[in-house]
Amino acid sequence: MKVTAAVATGKGNPLAIKELDLQEPGPGEVQVRMVASGICHTDAVVRNEVYPTPMPVVLGHEGAGVVEKVGPGVTTVESGDHVLLSFYTCGTCDSCAMGHPAYCTQFFGLNFSGRRADGTTAFSDDGEQVGSHIFGQSSFSSVSNVVERSVVKIPPTVPLKLLAPLGCSVQTGAGAVLNVLDAEAGSSLVVFGAGAVGMSALLAARVANCSTIIAVDIVDSRLDLAGELGATHVINSRMENAAARIKETTGRGVDYAVDTTGNREIFRSMLDSLGSRGHAALVGLAAPGTEAAIDIGSTILTGAKISMVIEGDVVPHTFIPRLISLYQDGRFPFDKFIKAYPFTDINTAFEDSENGTTIKPVVVF
Ligand code: NAD
Repeated sequence: MKVTAAVATGKGNPLAIKELDLQEPGPGEVQVRMVASGICHTDAVVRNEVYPTPMPVVLGHEGAGVVEKVGPGVTTVESGDHVLLSFYTCGTCDSCAMGHPAYCTQFFGLNFSGRRADGTTAFSDDGEQVGSHIFGQSSFSSVSNVVERSVVKIPPTVPLKLLAPLGCSVQTGAGAVLNVLDAEAGSSLVVFGAGAVGMSALLAARVANCSTIIAVDIVDSRLDLAGELGATHVINSRMENAAARIKETTGRGVDYAVDTTGNREIFRSMLDSLGSRGHAALVGLAAPGTEAAIDIGSTILTGAKISMVIEGDVVPHTFIPRLISLYQDGRFPFDKFIKAYPFTDINTAFEDSENGTTIKPVVVF
């Protein structure tokens, strides 16, 4: 069938809106008509060739849509079901078997190769292969073939175009706080980077009843929104030393910290802001090969813990419904940082995310 997709063609190029051919869904695949897709910073990372994903490729990994048809062997959804799309895992390695699919040993290849596990693609342009299956879904396409394990069925009563970002950035920030840090009520927590992942971490800190919630960023409008969403303190790290200010505010340093910037100086600043036996989580992505210095001679005395976090260590099939019910109860208002764009304005949406105007762009088909 013919579909309309946004195709990444090379480093820094705007995405090209093209008509492509899409194959019939293969074994274990679900054909989904997209209603909306979030744009995540990770899409820009892949478009900018930080990872070796072959071009051309259809990006997008926060899809939301309706099942059009299913391929052979699919048992968990059927035509007409409303679905959110999340990451792609093998389902058989030790991590998948033990309930930690985000640490699937095949994660990088499955999510970033732009190919099915057997090396084929679902899209073509005049007979030429175009990469598909980014995060098992390549959701910047009007219709896409999605691996069944990436598909989470949701009730038809909740608006799909609002929910799209739950499948990656929102579950990542929220999962970092609720699963990995497992923040305790009454504790203190700092989030470095008040983007979509950071704001989700901040909302989760409220759900966990943290009493001191600090947001650090370099964009004042984002810090203003962080304050409205429940940050008790905000710090512009361009204007002051964040770690020093956090120590001064809390007296002893924070119990928990999340870095969503992937910046090595901020990573260090995150460690410097921890109190005794504090727990820090790195969530922001840095290019492979990036190293950050830690004073192991002094840090050992603090008993600090550092976790490296992928996708909030969530199981999407249980965590996404939990976030939806928190949203419906008014306890997780992630709609406050979403802005919708028509699909054809996808490049404007990328630019608005990069220049800080929009926190979470969602393209609507
Ligand atoms: P974003 O661009 O919306 O947010 C990043 C925020 O960090 C922005 O508000 C920016 O102003 C702020 N920032 C940048 N440099 C800073 C600095 N030096 N000091 C303070 N603040 C600074 O991006 P996002 O969508 O929220 O994603 C955040 C990161 O998480 C990205 O690197 C993304 O690729 C990554 N990510 C990781 C996972 C994972 O599984 N680990 C999943 C999704 C996204």
